[in-house]
Amino acid sequence: MRRCTECAVDIEGTWTLCPLCGAPVAGETVPSPMPTVPLTFSRRRVLKVLFLTSIAVIAASLAGQLLLGRGPEGFGVLRSSWLGVTAMWLVVLMAIRKRRNVAKGTVYLVVLIGLVCVYWDYLTGWRAWSLTYAVPIVCASSIVALLITLWAMHLEVAEHILYSGLTVLLGLAPIGFLAFGWVTNPLAPAICGALSVIALVVLQLARGAEVRRELVRRLHL
Ligand SMILES: [Zn+2]
Repeated sequence: MRRCTECAVDIEGTWTLCPLCGAPVAGETVPSPMPTVPLTFSRRRVLKVLFLTSIAVIAASLAGQLLLGRGPEGFGVLRSSWLGVTAMWLVVLMAIRKRRNVAKGTVYLVVLIGLVCVYWDYLTGWRAWSLTYAVPIVCASSIVALLITLWAMHLEVAEHILYSGLTVLLGLAPIGFLAFGWVTNPLAPAICGALSVIALVVLQLARGAEVRRELVRRLHL
């Protein structure tokens, strides 16, 4: 049986981290005595919100393109929003299928889309549209997807900390491009940064008190 030395308890099942304190557990795995509990959230509700959000973004993008006429200025951000809608769907579908790996999967997804766009941009004569629009929009839509996931599912404290860290990372990356002077148009990075701050506030309001209690307990303050 596995054992947590921090809590001095034996743990049945396939836990690799202690369910009480989150510390790594040692010893042999034994079969869990508990039946597998399915996720308790309404998939239909999640898909409905996702669908409505997508429609709103696509409608805003179309309206924007109509208003701007045929001029190329500002089109990048409007067209990249389609990429954002795709990324948002992928993150939420990933959350529905494999809840435990959402944070890791989101990072892989953003990095993958980012690299593909940068390479494409490079091949077609570098105009920095990938870093100016595509990456910030994919980051921003991943943050929105994480918020939808948060709203739909009951997050555990460890997941909450992971999601908060991920939100900061996704929000700061495009602002970093701006700071390093890799991009000049601040529109998309600013939207992304603002969304990241909003998401962090929502995360704090949703579960902040519990997280702070947990941190105090773990750090023995
Ligand atoms: Zn423990």
